[in-house]
Amino acid sequence: MAWRETRDPYRILVSEIMLQQTRVETVGPYYERFLSKFPDVRTLARSRPDDVLKAWEGLGYYSRARNLHRAAGIIVDRHGARVPCTVEALEALPGVGRSTAGAIAAIAFGADAPILDANARRVVARLFAIEGDPRSAATEKILWERSARLVRKGKGRDTALAVMDLGAVVCLPKAPRCKECPLRFRCSSCRRGLQDSIPPKRAGKTVPHHDIVAAVFRRSDGALFLMRRPSDGLLGGLWAFPSGKRAPGESLEDGLRRFLREKLHVRAVIQRKVGIVRHAYSHYRITLHGFLCGTARGALPSGEGTGWLPGRGEGTFALPRADRKLVELIHREAGI
Ligand code: SF4
Repeated sequence: MAWRETRDPYRILVSEIMLQQTRVETVGPYYERFLSKFPDVRTLARSRPDDVLKAWEGLGYYSRARNLHRAAGIIVDRHGARVPCTVEALEALPGVGRSTAGAIAAIAFGADAPILDANARRVVARLFAIEGDPRSAATEKILWERSARLVRKGKGRDTALAVMDLGAVVCLPKAPRCKECPLRFRCSSCRRGLQDSIPPKRAGKTVPHHDIVAAVFRRSDGALFLMRRPSDGLLGGLWAFPSGKRAPGESLEDGLRRFLREKLHVRAVIQRKVGIVRHAYSHYRITLHGFLCGTARGALPSGEGTGWLPGRGEGTFALPRADRKLVELIHREAGI
């Protein structure tokens, strides 16, 4: 983990934001690429939002990239380009919650600050055999108190790293490796045989599925028409094919024609299907149906928020993963 070999607060900030809801193995290459493009906080602060999103493409939870970019601007403007060192000042940055602030303060500055990310939550709950729902406010309060109790005076950095590592490689969500755990003789769950039932399992939720119809407009040079998604929504600020949800009972083609009529004010000739992509996002699954289209009436929108992805090469557009897969299918079919 490259971020463990640095004490540079900016690099630690980047790693902690990337590690929110994302596994260590996934973050590795993104971390290296991001820092080679934005090696310091000033460079990040003055970069174009599109370039930041492009460097984040594929990592998901894109609000993190937008917030990190905004945080860099605040660090430059209000903190003289130095990442603040207190939990309070860190927590005031966009996208930095209490646990991330604690982790940065502890790892970068050695503060005696507790953490409570997903791994720490599990480790602390098991160590102290806290059986309540870890997402309830009452249990969360107890977990924070116990996490703070683990921090020895002057050992904030060591404690944060130890809890993170224990959660990542030993105290695993399923089948914790108690026999190899250095805390097995102090762990209340292990002593009482509760390690498999703490934290309690969530009731299985059904993940909604949507059929999404996407219009592929291709220019004679092979460029593909894209539109920027609203910056405050899901996948905000990314570039995607014009697309919408198919309504219940509607055919895919009718759904696409309706979407194009209502949102783009064009009547489209649907030529043929060019690809189907199945993709799971964090809270829902989609099947993206791409149709090659021509316009029969009305012109495609132009200007701000619209663009053409070059037929060859990537350009600087950051695309959601499903749209990127559809581009690959289209290129493959066209022999690009
Ligand atoms: S003994 Fe088992 S349950 Fe307890 S902290 Fe170690 S791995 Fe987790």
